[in-house]
Amino acid sequence: MDAAKTAVKTELGLESIDVMKNYVAAKVTDTNYAKAHNVAASIAEVLKTVDTDSTSSTTVAAKLTSLASKVTAQVVPNITSIKSATSTTNAVTVAAIPQSTKIISIDYGTPANFATAMTRSFTGSMVLASTVTNRSRYMISDAATASSTSKYLSMGSIYSATAGYAAESANLPTATTYDSYLSKLFLLVAQGTTGYYRMDSHFHPNNSLDVDTADGNKLKFRNNFGKASTLYGYLTFSYNSTTKLLQAKKRYRYSYTTATGSTGGSTYTPSWTEDTSFSAADYYVNLASGVYTLVSTAAAATPLYLYNSPIDLGIPTFMNPKGVAFVDNGPAPFMSKLTTSQIEGTTGSIYTSVNNTYKAQVATAGTNADTKTAADTMLATIKTTMEASGGKLRYAPAVYTAYRDAALATKLVSDSIADGTPGQNLVPYVYFTNEKDSSNVYHPFMVVVSYGNQASPNGLVDVPHPPGAGTGDYKTSNVTRFSNLENYVQMIPMRDYGQVTAVTDNGSPTITKNLWTERKVSTLAANVYTYADEADNGILIDGSVMFPAYNNVLEPSHLAGELSASGCHVGQGGGGPHCHSDGYQSGFGLALYNDSDYSNKTHPPLIGFGYDGIALFGKYREPTDASMLGYTSKLDDFGAHNHDSVGYHYHAHTVTDHTPVGQTYTATMYVLMKGAYIGKVTTVPNFRAKTTFSTNKYLGGTVP
Ligand SMILES: [Zn+2]
Ligand SMILES: [Zn+2]
Repeated sequence: MDAAKTAVKTELGLESIDVMKNYVAAKVTDTNYAKAHNVAASIAEVLKTVDTDSTSSTTVAAKLTSLASKVTAQVVPNITSIKSATSTTNAVTVAAIPQSTKIISIDYGTPANFATAMTRSFTGSMVLASTVTNRSRYMISDAATASSTSKYLSMGSIYSATAGYAAESANLPTATTYDSYLSKLFLLVAQGTTGYYRMDSHFHPNNSLDVDTADGNKLKFRNNFGKASTLYGYLTFSYNSTTKLLQAKKRYRYSYTTATGSTGGSTYTPSWTEDTSFSAADYYVNLASGVYTLVSTAAAATPLYLYNSPIDLGIPTFMNPKGVAFVDNGPAPFMSKLTTSQIEGTTGSIYTSVNNTYKAQVATAGTNADTKTAADTMLATIKTTMEASGGKLRYAPAVYTAYRDAALATKLVSDSIADGTPGQNLVPYVYFTNEKDSSNVYHPFMVVVSYGNQASPNGLVDVPHPPGAGTGDYKTSNVTRFSNLENYVQMIPMRDYGQVTAVTDNGSPTITKNLWTERKVSTLAANVYTYADEADNGILIDGSVMFPAYNNVLEPSHLAGELSASGCHVGQGGGGPHCHSDGYQSGFGLALYNDSDYSNKTHPPLIGFGYDGIALFGKYREPTDASMLGYTSKLDDFGAHNHDSVGYHYHAHTVTDHTPVGQTYTATMYVLMKGAYIGKVTTVPNFRAKTTFSTNKYLGGTVP
């Protein structure tokens, strides 16, 4: 360093180097500054674009090809225009023209799905727990000090509808991801006032720890909260915090009764009764050769240490700001309405219902190259026919493609749906239709076929105060802690039907019933919160549905403590979960969308669509996203804006000073869609109506 300073002083006569000062000074005096600046800026732009293009799946050759084309498109024109100037002064003038070739393109990134999010790097800190707290999550280790050789109780990776999951021991790898921890986390749930605890898997919450007395008293995880094909049960344990021994105390047998559901399908009423013939009561847990068994003596038991969960997976304060207490009400029955084979495959309801124009798009469920080609071709046709007839699509085809591809790639990861199967599709089909009305006007739709559930553990077990399933007093009511597969076929209008200026512009005859029209208080204002559907108003990228921010009694849903960490719950009628609130958490990596989904992006990720056809993107993180496109373009009352030729779109957002209807306090709202549609829906054919293929040609079927 000293040698460098001396050299600068000797060679250049400068006493000090101040790069910034020299740079600023040069801007004033050096006529070459502007052109140097512009060339540098265009190169920086190229590098940024190339960086954005680069993913781990991009080959070096592809990156170089991309780089060459960007240099040709963006750098060369700058240099050429400078060279072509007839004088130095003109060259400087030309170079000083603001970045005419500068291109920051919007990208329609979508969030990594849960399966991918789990593979992201995460390192937790392991803190020993001294006692067991009811409903807390723990990792259970054979070591008093966490190290790379510590063994943890872990869910087996193989799902079996008949046998459940194995209970295995596993190490934490050197390079840990979210996945490294999730399968090793267990929720300890007190069995009434017995002082004993059930052990539920966090990752696969339908499963609790049980013993197989016919298989050497091996511990196994068995389905206790779903439509299991073989019924087992669960154990309760005492934990001695001095000896560190886990002792099996009682066993409960799982069973359910089945009845015909009032809304189709069947209902399952579960019960758990003490297994009075349980032969291994007071046995201890032993770990040997990676297998957990019950043994009869304390001398043969393995001391086991509880570590607090390194990831806080409970309900964050912002999702239950009033601290509504956890209720112990029993769970409402779960339902089952369908099997995936009734929906998917060439004999399933979708393939057999759509006509030949659209069959190629639904020939295979989930991600598939052939259906993608067919969908891309249809999208191109839609754009051409729309524009030729003087109409306009809401968005560039890339927006719909982004939604389609991400939704189709979403698979159920967690065993958390009563009748779901890990690994199954959550959105088997997304396809595009292009039908004309009787006046020959095209009304293209993106049709989304989904099971209405999220891929991750749905968190229903943690909801403090879930909706009551009964009609009577909440105290004696069962509450919604189970979800089941739904059979959604939703239409997203793609034509640009314009926007409303007042919420009631979307009134009768299109919307005849909503929170406002059903109001009990005549003075209730019709606004973005109240002029909202009583049910779902949009669909998220994982195929789960959105509801308005207010619940059906006009209360912001999160203030009632009725939502999961994802901002979702199952309503009074049962079914699949729906989401009232934005579950994004800063620094957290397992929500619908997360910080990593913003890396190298020019705009927050696409996370869903309102049924009005308006795309929903993630929130702008303040001030982190100040350089993102649209950051300075204020969201309107609906939470929407338009910028950079995207077309009008919603963003999830935070409202900090909202006074709920009929209240005097203010609350912070974590909004997906507030409720009302800004997209004009009065001329959308069959808007929220005619949901069968035989009555609604826009679904792509044949209407007799
Ligand atoms: Zn709800
Ligand atoms: Zn935007």
